Amino acid sequence: MPARIIDGKAVAARVRAEVAEQVSELHERTGRAPGLATVLVGDDPGSAIYVANKRKASEEVGMRDYHHHLPADAAQEDVEAVIAACNADPDVSGILLQLPVPDGLDGPSLTAQIAPEKDVDGLTPISGGRLLQGSPGLRPATPLGVLELLDSEGVALEGAEAVVVGRSNLVGKPVSLLLLERNATVTLCHSRTRNLPAVCVRGDVLVVAVGSPGLIGAEHVKPGAVVIDVGINRTPDGLRGDVEFEGAAQRASAITPVPGGVGPMTIAMLLRNTLAAAELQAAALTARR
Ligand code: NDP
Repeated sequence: MPARIIDGKAVAARVRAEVAEQVSELHERTGRAPGLATVLVGDDPGSAIYVANKRKASEEVGMRDYHHHLPADAAQEDVEAVIAACNADPDVSGILLQLPVPDGLDGPSLTAQIAPEKDVDGLTPISGGRLLQGSPGLRPATPLGVLELLDSEGVALEGAEAVVVGRSNLVGKPVSLLLLERNATVTLCHSRTRNLPAVCVRGDVLVVAVGSPGLIGAEHVKPGAVVIDVGINRTPDGLRGDVEFEGAAQRASAITPVPGGVGPMTIAMLLRNTLAAAELQAAALTARR
């Protein structure tokens, strides 16, 4: 029987509606709506679209929008100054530095300057360390979206075999740690993994974040597995995931499509992180009074 298709758009819409409700409640309670600062350097059209989408989504849920656009030839110190101002601004709950930054700028060093309590992308070394240690902190948005989709399907993660393909700091590694936190038995694969199909086919849950269209086929999928395809690849045939959908869907019990699977979740989880950051900042302010 072909797999159930996991509707990321519907799950993301539900998360966004929940966030909107909680933003309004926070606003009423504290007199301050959460604020999201976006920092865009340069004129890459793809990055500009991503940032515009995030700004629009944050306004739709009632958040305040603080946008900073710097020219492509901005100096490292210019971007650092914007980040420092956002760190210090009590109206800014979350900061998003759009990556990649133009050549000549040190992206990791800039990211590291975002205050951990405003790191709504969850990408600073401090947030990464907290995730590694299992202590509270902001987690990266796309990996949170993967977990939200698994939860929306009611997938029992405890004790399950979870195989993750791709070990980037952005997706693969944090997804693995979140799955581990939920007591899955996690195998993390990468470009040097030997006999990838034999490893993948062990997964009750298979999460793929590689950036190689159609890399994962039916032979990688355990019958009945839940397959989450994080890949977004622009091909002459349009957007494609890392999973060869038709074949994999014949063996999986549930699978995400591309587009319409993980993609919509990233912004939804970014909004949820911004709300969580604003709640923590409001609580800290109350505690100081
Ligand atoms: P990276 O390029 O940073 O990482 C890719 C990973 O895939 C690396 O760990 C690499 O291994 C591994 N890999 C490459 N080739 C193979 C192979 N043949 N077999 C097994 N593993 C392989 O990519 P990202 O993690 O940033 O992104 C992955 C995909 O997810 C992309 O398509 C990206 O567009 C998409 N994405 C989607 C998002 C969303 O919102 N849905 C958000 C972020 C990313 P090694 O480390 O050994 O080189």
